[in-house]
Amino acid sequence: MSSILDEYAAVSENGVVDQLKQLAAPVHDLKVVHVNSTREGGGVAEILHKLIPLMRALGLKAQWEVIKGGPDFYQCTKGFHNGLQGNPVGLSDKLLDVYEKTNAQNAEEFRQVLEEADIVFIHDPQPAAMIEFCPNRKGVWIWRCHIDASRPYRPVWKYLRKWVVQYDASIFSLPAFAQRLPHLQYMIPPSIDPLSDKNIPLPKREINAVTREFNLDPNIPLILQVSRFDRFKDPLGVIEAYRLARKFAPMQLALVGGTASDDPEGEMVIREVHTAAQGDPNIHILLLPPDSHRKINALQRAADIVMQKSIKEGFGLTVAEAMWKKKPVIGGDTGGIRLQVINHYTGFLVRTPEGAALRIRYLLHNRHRLEEMGERAHRLVKENFLLTRHLREHLTLMLSLLSGEEERIEVGVQTKWKKNQS
Ligand code: UDP
Repeated sequence: MSSILDEYAAVSENGVVDQLKQLAAPVHDLKVVHVNSTREGGGVAEILHKLIPLMRALGLKAQWEVIKGGPDFYQCTKGFHNGLQGNPVGLSDKLLDVYEKTNAQNAEEFRQVLEEADIVFIHDPQPAAMIEFCPNRKGVWIWRCHIDASRPYRPVWKYLRKWVVQYDASIFSLPAFAQRLPHLQYMIPPSIDPLSDKNIPLPKREINAVTREFNLDPNIPLILQVSRFDRFKDPLGVIEAYRLARKFAPMQLALVGGTASDDPEGEMVIREVHTAAQGDPNIHILLLPPDSHRKINALQRAADIVMQKSIKEGFGLTVAEAMWKKKPVIGGDTGGIRLQVINHYTGFLVRTPEGAALRIRYLLHNRHRLEEMGERAHRLVKENFLLTRHLREHLTLMLSLLSGEEERIEVGVQTKWKKNQS
């Protein structure tokens, strides 16, 4: 067994690595390509950085490609993102034309890799139209939607759907996000990597050094939200909740984020957050470079309570990251947060700043409850939201798609699969 698999066996659920090896044996050697729109920033990049090496450790020829586009392209795709999450957005024909041309150019650049792959995973709307420009594809193509598409703005979905219907299958994070589509839809929640810099245990002195670096007071409770500066993450609601809770007890708030290269709205939201903070010295707005994984890890460990007060959320890796570190999470009652935060058990689900403030006060006054919830949160993530479970589901999906009409799938045998095998 390769050493990386040994390491996962030590931290994951019992037996899961053996299952991975069994499931990977028949698809060993397959060419699997993942395509998204950014190498840094946001949950998709975070997942792919870890999923690809683990797939390779299991013998698959896994590859990750990132498409490129200009400002108009990202303005258009941010519009898709906002539209899929329910905001009424208008997209001009000019922007849609840029979207299609950018997908055609990227398809040209990656044509050989994509057309030769056995399985292609296209993540989110940015590269979704590439399928149109790869007519000679021989493999199975899967559209992976990471967005809360429970109530999309219809005109946006109607436009995107014309690309999505061309895929062999799609994956959503939750049943509530499924759509009317003419192909199989799989429900697979994302995951965190317990061995990454973002999540490995850290020595106390490193945690203390990071809190000192950001001028956080070790003697005052710390409330933390880590997120891209995006309105759906509701940073202004977090500030309001902190203000309400702080009337009753001293505390400090850290809003930690950065911008993703495929998110053109971040700068504007950062300005709104600074205005709302009104120079309060106990509100720390920390803009960190995209590779600050250990620092974010340290801040999550230093926090007393972690918030993720999103209004819409595909999954919310930040929730699983905090729970893995035994923190109760106060999260928005929406999307993927509901999968992770079991109300009153691993944290609290809230809808308003007032609700969030009430839960902050409760947890800070009931430390034993805070710790109990943190322990349960850790167990829930260990059993459900680690990379190993995620990959097990991807392998199962690959096997089921490649086996076509076969009634029985044999695992644990060294067979090579080829699509359209005669
Ligand atoms: N993240 C980060 N730096 C930041 C903000 C976020 O590394 O400044 C990470 C965060 O730790 C998490 C991911 O980016 O791993 C965000 O994923 P999530 O699913 O929470 O939200 P998304 O950005 O995909 O909507």
